[in-house]
Order: sequence, then C-alpha cells, then structure tokens
Amino acid sequence: MDEFCVCGAAAPKMRCACRTRFCSAACHKAHWPQHKVVCRVLTSPAQEAQCGVCFEELPVERHRWNYLPCCSSRLCRECVEEFVRKNGHSDQCVYCRAPSPRSYEELLKLLRHHATTRDDAFALAELGAIYQSGLCGTADTPDRDKIAHDFLSRAAHKGHGPAAYNLGRKLQLDDEPALAAQYYTIAARKGVAQALSSLGALHLRGYGLALDPARAARLFRTALAAGDPNGAFNLAILKSSGLGEPRDDDLALALFREAFAKGDNDLQSSVVLALRLHLERLGQDPDQASALLANPPPS
Ligand SMILES: [Zn+2]
Ligand SMILES: [Zn+2]
Ligand SMILES: [Zn+2]
Ligand SMILES: [Zn+2]
Repeated sequence: MDEFCVCGAAAPKMRCACRTRFCSAACHKAHWPQHKVVCRVLTSPAQEAQCGVCFEELPVERHRWNYLPCCSSRLCRECVEEFVRKNGHSDQCVYCRAPSPRSYEELLKLLRHHATTRDDAFALAELGAIYQSGLCGTADTPDRDKIAHDFLSRAAHKGHGPAAYNLGRKLQLDDEPALAAQYYTIAARKGVAQALSSLGALHLRGYGLALDPARAARLFRTALAAGDPNGAFNLAILKSSGLGEPRDDDLALALFREAFAKGDNDLQSSVVLALRLHLERLGQDPDQASALLANPPPS
C-alpha cells in the first residue's frame, strides 16, 4: 500500500514474509520489535469473509452484510433479500433455520459460545463492537471498556480488519499512538480504507509515527482512491494550508465538496468548520461555506 520503508527510504526492495517491504535486512531487523505483532497477524491464515450462500466476497463495511448469531454465518444483502422475497419475513435463520435469538441475553450467549468454542473472529468482533458501544443491554456492565478491548484484540489478532481499526481508534484515544498505528496497519492491509487516513493523520502530527507530511499526503490519496471520504477531507486541508503538498485553493474546495458529499454527519460538520477557515484565509465570507457545499460547482 505504501511503497516506502518504515524508516522513510523510498522504493524498498526487500519483502518480509507478510509482504511488507523494507529497504534492507538490517532495517527489517531494527524494526522487528514494532513489526512483529502486525507480521504475525498478516501471516496467519485469515478467516474467510464470504457469503455463506453465494460465496461472494463480503464488503469490509459491517453494515453491508448480515451476521447470523445462531450459526455465526455471514450472508450478503442480495442473498438475504432473495430469501425474504421467496419466504417472507420469518424469525428463523435464513441459513440454518434455527429460531432467531429472542433477547439480548440469548444473543450474547450465542456469540460467547462461538467465541469460546471456535475462537470465531466474527463472533469476537461482534462482541467487541457491542461492548464498545454499550449496545444490547451492555451499557452498565462493569469493566465494559476492558471487555470490549479484549474481544476486539482477539478478533484483530485473527486478522479481522474492522476490529483492528476499532482497537486502533481506542488505543489512540487512550494516548497509545504507536500501538494504534500497528492495528491501523493490520486494518489497512485487510481493506479498511479509513485506516489509511488514520495512519496519515499520525504521520501528519508526528504522533506515534515519524513526522512526515509528504507521506501523510500519499496515505490520504490512497485512502481517497479506495473510497474513504476522510482521505478527501485530510487532503483538502493539506491543499488549503500548503503543508506537505503544494497549495491549491481550487482543488482544496473540490476535495472539501467531495468529502462533504460522501461523509457521515460527523465528517460533514468537520468539513463545514474547515471550509470556513479556508474561506477566511482567502479573505472571503466564511458564511458561504454551507452554500458552497450544498450546491454543485458551476461548470
Ligand atoms: Zn528502512
Ligand atoms: Zn512481516
Ligand atoms: Zn450471497
Ligand atoms: Zn443460523
């Protein structure tokens, strides 16, 4: 994903067993203490992420497929919709015909069963996400934070990309940026585009990773190409400020628009604030920010 060695050297030739590139064997050895966690995960066999019915590869984003807690199967949206068209809605599992769990306790019990008996990465990731957000009646669980951390960590170490990303975010909030970067790296290698933006943001601040605005810009660009609106937003800020990239006010505006059009509510609020600053810097009226984002650019 990034054609630079961890030390910053360009066009590294040597490949580790996990396919990460290094400039030399000496550099590989020097960075082994930080690299080994990532390496171990990337070289262990990944759990398949295919639809249980049609065997299509599932998208990385959790909201784009269904998880069936009875049998820990994953189904793509198309297969679920097809089943509902044929059979109508039912409280039976589409896949194994077991009745759906009737309570949060039943759901959590099923997930814990898969996590314990099979060390199932998907069940572990579901449990991690549930405890992290306090869903399904877990909000008041004592040690909820620690429980979430343990589940996410077990899922991440089994190569589950979104769990690795969530754990990275959590570690960054806990002021552990170097460790966060390791989990972002796993997530990025497992196809989570947002993790590339997060790695770029660490390089931009020199927080947990080497201060390197040019490398941050490259990571934001890769994230944008992979469909992450955070990549567009971060790149817009660099284009607006001239940090790590030649300043380009028109391109900055176009990128702010793209981030706004594709972003969720949180990202949209950040875009409005950043565009106001951008307009102020240009000596223009910041109050036109919302209008500029809402209207398509004149062609
Ligand atoms: Zn190197
Ligand atoms: Zn490696
Ligand atoms: Zn399918
Ligand atoms: Zn089932």
